[in-house]
Amino acid sequence: MDLAAGMPDGRALYRPDVAGTVLVLPARCRRGEHPFTAASGYRIRQEHGLLYVECLACVRLFPPRLGHSWVLQAGPRRFDSVELDDESYEQLRESLDAGA
Ligand SMILES: [Zn+2]
Repeated sequence: MDLAAGMPDGRALYRPDVAGTVLVLPARCRRGEHPFTAASGYRIRQEHGLLYVECLACVRLFPPRLGHSWVLQAGPRRFDSVELDDESYEQLRESLDAGA
C-alpha cells in the first residue's frame, strides 16, 4: 500500500437520522476542483476502516489528477445514506490548504 496516499485526511463524520446513520461527506473533491452532487461525482470505497471518496471527474481526466481522493477514518461504522456538506469539513480543508 502506498503509505502517502493511505494517510487519512481526518475522521468521517456521521449523524443519526430517522432512517439510520447518515455519512456526511465533503461536497467537493479533495483538490477542490469538482463539486459532488447527491447522485454522482464520487465513488466510495471502504477498506480496513478507511473510507476512500474518489472524485470521478478527476479520475476521468487524462492524465488522471492525483490527490483527488478523500481518505477518512471510519472504523467499522456502517451508514444508511450519504449527505454532502462542505461546512462540516471546513477545518479539514483549511489544513489541506495550509499544507499545500
Ligand atoms: Zn475532482
